[in-house]
Amino acid sequence: MKFDDIRNICVVGAGNMGHQIALQAAICGFSVKCFDVNVETLKKADDFVNSYLPGRVEKGRLSEDQARQARINIQFVDSLRVAAGDADFVIEAATEILSLKRKIFADLDQIASAHCILATNSSAIVSSKIADATQRQDKVVNMHFFNPALVMKLVEVVKGPHVSDETADLTMQLSKVMQKVPVLLKKEVDGFLLNRIFAAISKEAMWLLEMGVADVEDIDNACVFGAGHPMGPFRLNDLTGIDLSYIMRMEKFRDTGNAADLPNPRLVEHYMKGEFGEKTGKGWYDYSTKN
Ligand code: NAD
Repeated sequence: MKFDDIRNICVVGAGNMGHQIALQAAICGFSVKCFDVNVETLKKADDFVNSYLPGRVEKGRLSEDQARQARINIQFVDSLRVAAGDADFVIEAATEILSLKRKIFADLDQIASAHCILATNSSAIVSSKIADATQRQDKVVNMHFFNPALVMKLVEVVKGPHVSDETADLTMQLSKVMQKVPVLLKKEVDGFLLNRIFAAISKEAMWLLEMGVADVEDIDNACVFGAGHPMGPFRLNDLTGIDLSYIMRMEKFRDTGNAADLPNPRLVEHYMKGEFGEKTGKGWYDYSTKN
């Protein structure tokens, strides 16, 4: 496939990441269909697009024509068959559970055209754990966006051993055309580049908290005002979702059986209480009051 053949993009999952990846692709001129199993999520995503685009026009970031075209370019649909039937490139951004992703990829393999590339936005699952659920392993690749996907520039493209040069090249090119800065990982590694670096920081931050050395806010402040990070590890965790961190650690533990991979007890406490961070109004910080 040549890059110009990529016109229709399907995004699977309209949650935190999916709806923003879909909208970014629509703004960049692709015809996008975004599918989710949850109709309320689809409605919320559609409402977000309706409020986001006029805001961009007001701020002078998009012309009225660009915003109108982006709105035409994106559709939220409740059928995977409709979403992926005419897709040239699929970006899967569904819940971070390996068995779920394998099922989605097996279904996509049946539905999508033979030339279509199937990318996963997974934060931690390497595509070789998913590719063999399909008959097109050379076209299954990691394409990892960062949160919020409309804002963050980085995309990690991971060239697993099964991924063809063509697939890796096209995924890099698509990232650029979507106004992102892609980096290529020449090998698969758990957590990819940035999350490995952040995992080390986050593990240390949790240890400092656990040991009673400092409070959440002061640990975050050390990172912000000492290291120039835009936000500290606890604030970032509230943004990306404590539920996602919990699921990722549990997946890793299931993989390795190593107790050191279990989520931190304080994180488990928040997870069990349904305190997932910003999206639930409480996590490491309380968002019902200003802080
Ligand atoms: P989310 O919970 O906000 O959204 C996941 C969506 O997937 C939900 O709307 C859910 O209804 C939908 N879903 C579940 N099963 C589905 C199916 N069979 N078909 C279609 N949709 C289905 O989660 P998220 O934070 O958007 O994460 C999605 C993916 O993106 C995960 O793989 C995660 O690792 C990755 N990711 C997340 C972040 C982050 O900061 N949140 C960053 C980068 C990558």
